[in-house]
Amino acid sequence: MSKLRRTTGLGVLIILVVLALYRHYGYTPADLVDTEESGEDDSVSVHFYEEEKVEIVAHSNSKQEESTSSQEESTTTVPLPQDTLKNRCSHSKGIHDNGADLQVSDLVESLEFRSENPETGHYPGLKPLPTSEELTVFLVPHSHCDPGWLLQYEEYYEQNVRHILTNFYQFAMQHDDFKYIYAEVSFFKLWWEEQKEKVREDMGRLAREGRFEFVQGGWVQNDEANTHYFAILNQMLDGHQWLNTNFPDAKPRAGWAIDPFGLSPFMAQVNKLFGLDAMHIQRVHYTVKKHLAESRQLEFKWRQSWDSSGETDILTELGAFSGYNSQSTCGPEPDVCYQYHFAAFTNPKFRPHRLLHKTSPLNLKERSLKILDQWRKKAALHSANAVFIELGFDFSYVIKGDLDSVYDNYKPLMEYINNSTELNTQVKWGTVSDYFDHIKNKPDKFPTLSGDFFTYADRFDHYWSGYFTTRPFNKNLDRVLESSLRRTEILFSLQRAREDVKKKKEDVKKKKEDVEKLTRARNTLSLFQHHDGITGTAKPRVVDDYGSRLFKAYKACDELSAAAIRHIMADSGTDLNPIRIRAAFKELEKFRVLEKEVELVVVSTIPRRTAAAQVIAVQAHLNLEVVGNRGEVIPQQVEPDIEYGKLNPKSKLITFWTELPSVSINTFRLKNTEQVKTKTTAKMYTFGEKSVSPTCQDIVLGQNKLVIKLDCKSGRLKTIEKRGKTVDVNQEVIMYPSALSGAYLFLPTGDPTQLLTDSTRADIVLVKGSLRDRAMVTLKYQESTIVLTYTVYHHQGSESEYLDLEIMSDLKNNGDLAIRLKTDIKSGDSIYTDLNGHTIQHHKYKSKLKTQGNFFPMPSTAFIQDSSTRLSLLGSEPHGVASLSEGWIEVIIDRRSKHDDGRGLGEGIQDNIPTPAHLRILVEARSETQARGEGYRVENPSIVSHWTLQTLLHPAFLLSRPLSKQTLPASVQLMKPLPCDEELVNLRYVDNQTCQLIRRKLGFTCDIDVSNNCDYQDTAIEELFTNDVTVTLEDHPFSPFHHKNDSNKSDLKAMEFSSEYVTFRN
Ligand SMILES: [Zn+2]
Repeated sequence: MSKLRRTTGLGVLIILVVLALYRHYGYTPADLVDTEESGEDDSVSVHFYEEEKVEIVAHSNSKQEESTSSQEESTTTVPLPQDTLKNRCSHSKGIHDNGADLQVSDLVESLEFRSENPETGHYPGLKPLPTSEELTVFLVPHSHCDPGWLLQYEEYYEQNVRHILTNFYQFAMQHDDFKYIYAEVSFFKLWWEEQKEKVREDMGRLAREGRFEFVQGGWVQNDEANTHYFAILNQMLDGHQWLNTNFPDAKPRAGWAIDPFGLSPFMAQVNKLFGLDAMHIQRVHYTVKKHLAESRQLEFKWRQSWDSSGETDILTELGAFSGYNSQSTCGPEPDVCYQYHFAAFTNPKFRPHRLLHKTSPLNLKERSLKILDQWRKKAALHSANAVFIELGFDFSYVIKGDLDSVYDNYKPLMEYINNSTELNTQVKWGTVSDYFDHIKNKPDKFPTLSGDFFTYADRFDHYWSGYFTTRPFNKNLDRVLESSLRRTEILFSLQRAREDVKKKKEDVKKKKEDVEKLTRARNTLSLFQHHDGITGTAKPRVVDDYGSRLFKAYKACDELSAAAIRHIMADSGTDLNPIRIRAAFKELEKFRVLEKEVELVVVSTIPRRTAAAQVIAVQAHLNLEVVGNRGEVIPQQVEPDIEYGKLNPKSKLITFWTELPSVSINTFRLKNTEQVKTKTTAKMYTFGEKSVSPTCQDIVLGQNKLVIKLDCKSGRLKTIEKRGKTVDVNQEVIMYPSALSGAYLFLPTGDPTQLLTDSTRADIVLVKGSLRDRAMVTLKYQESTIVLTYTVYHHQGSESEYLDLEIMSDLKNNGDLAIRLKTDIKSGDSIYTDLNGHTIQHHKYKSKLKTQGNFFPMPSTAFIQDSSTRLSLLGSEPHGVASLSEGWIEVIIDRRSKHDDGRGLGEGIQDNIPTPAHLRILVEARSETQARGEGYRVENPSIVSHWTLQTLLHPAFLLSRPLSKQTLPASVQLMKPLPCDEELVNLRYVDNQTCQLIRRKLGFTCDIDVSNNCDYQDTAIEELFTNDVTVTLEDHPFSPFHHKNDSNKSDLKAMEFSSEYVTFRN
């Protein structure tokens, strides 16, 4: 093997490279020569990789690496003693330690799973609750309104929801005993704004009298698999704050999740945070549900896995049957329930059951006893001698006579039963809280339960694990908006704080417009959390509607952010524009190529000091370098502009290293240079099918503490070496044949096809430099293109702990595309995945379930481990994830299907657009002494894993402005660091000088060394803000309806959230 060296015969090589690139990318020779012309030492140099020069040695350290960023630190911080952080980690505990009576994982382990159809014969032989036991029945009229699914959000409002809400209101005004509930603030707001004052007053009275109840109070009924806690909190805040401001009588008391396709215990934590007393849930795997029903454990107190005190317990009721529609909720026999689906008389959409009859004196007794038999059979599955019966379905009661039909036919039945004392039953119209108020005084009856309800199946082997990945483009855009909204909220709040304190005369109209713009962006993000939004399970034109809304909100956030930065920096210019741009919502984010000297603005919203590479693109023929604001040297490298596998020959990238103080705005300069002293160049190699011999050596990226090896022919990842410890990862790229899969269901019809084997000859481009190494591997599979980009950073600090893997998929063939790592980690049958970015859930592979039943949602994190090693995948967008064999971990990247999976959508998913997925792969050593054996455990990410995820989800925001006479400050720090195990969830603007500070305390493992630097000194919250204003603090509950908030504790414990109102004053 010979060391690869710079070749002096550039001319010959350029021709070879040109030919190679032209073949791979279709670029013209002229373009490339243009790139080449800029010299030996100060620009991109391109080398052709010849097979006899196979070895690639780790790039030697350049002198520039020794120089450090001289960014000024604007606050004095002292390192937190390692012991202090170490003392805050959480040791793994057996989950039985949390004292819950029921562990869902134990149930799943013990139950026999048969592929049955629970639609038929739910509970054969079920005996009704004996008449000797009293029974209370609450009839709860509801209408399930999806803010987007088959129709767009506003179309549903126009065609259905307006009429539904008006019908409910008018009916309730005419019938004093009638009650109803409603759940979606996003729709209710539209209706409310159309109502006259009289209607609003009437609604207030109905709510005060308990005849109308707002359940949950969220903007939508959010999906629970793909959603991140930032967006869940945002949608709950949007809903509760709107209600509190506009309809303060409608205080939500009960949670309501009847349609989300699998359920997360994080929602139990959220509901508790928002002051709800109890919650109703519905879609749980039919086998688990059946077991809970038959053991009369459908009511339980849901406890967080990490809580052993019981503080997080919340009374929960799981619906006994498969659906939430009137046809399924009355009892175990749908054929009987359908005979009482009285809305079918008026609504032509419903097929009336042949035995559906109007209630009359002639059939009164027989009809009463028949429905009572169903109610008593349902009560036999519940433990509190009470049931509530949902009356309604998707978009019920659009037609004016529907409610009359229901009321007029039920009323005589209710009266007959109530008057027949020997039946020992009381039936009434009710709300969800009526039911919970009735049963909550029987607390001894309810067990505590801990665990999650993924992965959901409603019948047969129909596991709903497809929607964990469906429509990844919008899932990615969702996270982009979450990050830009969070950043905008933080900057906007801090801008307002300064503005108002300094009593600057401001344009009131402009301020109002900006607040409206921010509110619309929040509402857009909230709308998309709907269980047909982020799930990707809507019609293509609805998917596009969501996408264009997300895109508009993202643009609005960028504008608001830029305005806030200009204000905070007292920038008199108007031209401050983001470096990364999207031309339209279906287009990928790209670099705006810089054409001259500019000032660069880099914003960090991470509440601790971060070290990271930033990247900009400049015109290829220019000699430019990045310097600090006072001309100081910044480590940087120049490299070819290759993104998503495509070379942009007219531009080149400058990667530069920054160290940014916590929550800060920092400036740099991009300036012309003649004599380049500070820059190091990257070297580029291309690998083509014919140029690589079968015996070529592995491609090596990285140096010192992190080294990865790729197969030189296929480009597949082979090993990750971290601080001398090597993990074999043996990457596969696979495509599941899933002709039966649809938007909801993943139904693989056989073993996956390997797209990447040792015989694969992929196109590989390698760039090696002093700051980072990258390899771009382009694969073709039939009509589809997949580009894998591996990046390893050389610098110290948590920014160089991981391998960055971007997977760009342009899927044109049907199937489920996945990345699988087959490691040598002895992980047994375990995998750990996160729930909503907050808690970690342990799962065991179950051979009794088919492949699709062993996939779980990965909103952000998944890992496998043995006693000495943990391998984590951190994702910037949600995916489905599984470990199908010891040492394996795989994520689904994209999916396409012609097939409709029979859950109402009526079509497959074929509107794929090129989508990037971003994964960070983190290998960490576990301490042998700390690590415990296999078993059910509460596990946490490492502190470095948390930090790595934070910067993945919330990268620095880069902008540029033209150079002017005005020089901006080198760095403005807006907030001092939070403790290193705390997260700044949001600084949500409230009004004028007030904002809501939301913090989260991280749970992190003791098993992985806490050796990284953490620059924190204890700071009172009042002193967190660094501008010269005083701050008053007020504990403020998440929901404005609840004055007392148990979660507000000065001593925040791991896994808890806190909410405080911060007011800036003179
Ligand atoms: Zn729904």
